[in-house]
Amino acid sequence: LRSVGTFQQVTNSSDTYFAGITNDVTEQKEDDQRKNDFIGMVSHELKTPLTSLTAIVQVANSKLKNSEDPFLAGAMEKANLQVKRMSKMINGFLNVSRLESAKLLIDKKAFDLHGLIEDVVKETALTVSTHQITVHQCDSVTVNADADKIGSVVTNLISNAIKYSPKGKSVEITCELVGDKVHVSVKDEGIGLSTEDKAKVFERYFRVESSNTRHISGFGIGLYLSAEIIHRHDGEIWVDSEPGEGSTFYFSLPLAKE
Ligand code: ADP
Repeated sequence: LRSVGTFQQVTNSSDTYFAGITNDVTEQKEDDQRKNDFIGMVSHELKTPLTSLTAIVQVANSKLKNSEDPFLAGAMEKANLQVKRMSKMINGFLNVSRLESAKLLIDKKAFDLHGLIEDVVKETALTVSTHQITVHQCDSVTVNADADKIGSVVTNLISNAIKYSPKGKSVEITCELVGDKVHVSVKDEGIGLSTEDKAKVFERYFRVESSNTRHISGFGIGLYLSAEIIHRHDGEIWVDSEPGEGSTFYFSLPLAKE
């Protein structure tokens, strides 16, 4: 009871006890709502200037990439990558905020999941040369889903596999048909997760606290959003991992009906 916090007086009456907890839960919800609104507002405000900046930097990058001045060419390329990174972060925050206020819309259309995975891997390979990323057994398979959102799940799992494993290691993506679903797995050879952490990785803002992860930046929203997106598609998401033995993250999606 003490950990709940705002009780001035504790009585033996169970009525008082429950009334106090209800108030605290309500306050906590209001507090969360305010934080969520704030995050949504800030992300929304940042999105507009960032969209113009992204467009400008992209054009400048394509004009200057063959520049005779190596500084200019390199600087614009870096600026382009960082602006893209920032956009992904802001989109993540916006999506968390939309999710919390039940405004995250899922726009389903039939598409080839294999093609989407290949696109994400190609885009990742443009910016990452530290890991070998391989796609196995992913034949064309049609799902009826929100391609942008599923793309962000695949991106998140691959970028985590890279972030939480040492340079030079492999990341392997596999697809498997299981009944009327497709299972996608992203396997890394990284730091792995303890049983306790495995149970929490899909929670909002959860990050593993250890000397291995302290230097790695992140906000603990990628897996939370991924899980919500997959659940909204009637799929499942789960992880198999041992500390020091790498992790395999899986998600399943129903196949599109003929
Ligand atoms: P972020 O990486 O931005 O912190 P995520 O929600 O994507 O947020 O992940 C939550 C936490 O789960 C991470 O902070 C990390 O501690 C752990 N985690 C995620 N992916 C992996 C992985 N492939 N290997 C080990 N730990 C991971």
